[in-house]
Amino acid sequence: MPIYELPDLPYDYSALEPALSGEIIELHHDKHHAAYVKGANDTVEKLAAARHAGDLGGIVGLEKTLAFNLSGHVLHSIYWENLSPDGGGEPTGELASAVAESFGSFAGFRAQLTAATATVQGSGWGVLAWEPLAGRLIVSQVYGHHENVGIGSTPLLVFDAWEHAYYLQYRNVRPDYVERLWDLVNWEDVSARLTAARPV
Ligand code: MN
Repeated sequence: MPIYELPDLPYDYSALEPALSGEIIELHHDKHHAAYVKGANDTVEKLAAARHAGDLGGIVGLEKTLAFNLSGHVLHSIYWENLSPDGGGEPTGELASAVAESFGSFAGFRAQLTAATATVQGSGWGVLAWEPLAGRLIVSQVYGHHENVGIGSTPLLVFDAWEHAYYLQYRNVRPDYVERLWDLVNWEDVSARLTAARPV
């Protein structure tokens, strides 16, 4: 039994059109996300085999591969749930309060996450996360799937800035893709993630 499994999309491939084409979503979920799930499972197996053989000489590469693929699986699993054909607008309630406290205003937060996503050098993510030590929200600019992360923070809203997320439709104009993502954000899902992450 594999440890990690590819989750079903919560909507049809074409549900997010015209912002994101069905072709992009199908490839992104069925090929790219699936590859991270397989990569994580394969690496867990290789680590078990290495322990069994008493040969941990490849540990550095295996740990890097696990972190990359597992983080890719985690982020994509959140990304699908963060988006909705009925999304957009602004958060309400506790999430709106936390955004205002942490960033000054929704507009300030939106500008920061937009800039963080649009300016990732190469492949990565813009992430809104709950940072438990200070008890506030932060924006992270993640490289690959797992670098430049404030460890211990919990991702709540993730914008995929890898070219595979937008290139078929937006070509090199990543900022246009990021603007359209805001029209898809499922704030109920983001709010539920904050409630789960934040101590009562
Ligand atoms: Mn992706």
